Amino acid sequence: MVENCFGGSGQPLAVPGRVLVGEGVLTKMCRKKPKPRQFFLFNDILVYGNIVINKKKYNKQHIIPLEEVKLESLADEGQYRNGWLIKTVTKSFAVYAATPTEKQEWMAHITKCIEDLLRKSGKKPVEVHAAVWVPDNEATICMHCNKTQFTVLNRRHHCRQCGAVVCGPCSNKKLLLPGQGNGKAVRVCLQCYDAASKIKAIPTTAGDGLNNKDPQRNNSADSSGGDSSGDEDDGNKEENHDEPKFYSTLGR
Ligand SMILES: [Zn+2]
Ligand SMILES: [Zn+2]
Repeated sequence: MVENCFGGSGQPLAVPGRVLVGEGVLTKMCRKKPKPRQFFLFNDILVYGNIVINKKKYNKQHIIPLEEVKLESLADEGQYRNGWLIKTVTKSFAVYAATPTEKQEWMAHITKCIEDLLRKSGKKPVEVHAAVWVPDNEATICMHCNKTQFTVLNRRHHCRQCGAVVCGPCSNKKLLLPGQGNGKAVRVCLQCYDAASKIKAIPTTAGDGLNNKDPQRNNSADSSGGDSSGDEDDGNKEENHDEPKFYSTLGR
């Protein structure tokens, strides 16, 4: 059923031994603003996508292997309540449930799945996770130099190491980061670059065009940015609240 709801836009999901543990709508913090996303928790993966027609059609499917997930509870802050971080090697983001109980249920079920998986495989939890990106609108000036005002020409860039929103000149260096860039160095802010240079990470002076003089290129550079692509488009805006459903009990 889940596979069909994603239609041709999704991956095959039916795998022997895979079980649907729960499903529901969570608000996901995207690069620009929080947006509703449909989540399916299986015993080994977390799948989410945009809602085209509630309970019928989803697209922009993302699949996260639970083995590399770490959860981190977030304190309530203004309009952002009942949230937690979903951290993985390749991307990390915040999600928000409608009520404290639902947050608790989601976190408990996901945690249980991760524990069961790691116990079965004998693997260790992944220690390195991608940075959570600061949302664009939380920075009107560069978080590194505190000078550059962001405009249409002075585009925002995200440091892949710390997630800060920084200007082009303050992010003209690159580093190899595990899980990101497919083996290529990715954009980092000068602070993270300097910190990594002191310890012995593998700094690569951007010989491949990041600190060149071509503003065109610098301005478009962030379009490849991890999570920012893909699931930014709005599905329909579904305001009424469906409670999440969980199909497994937490044997504790
Ligand atoms: Zn700057
Ligand atoms: Zn940084």
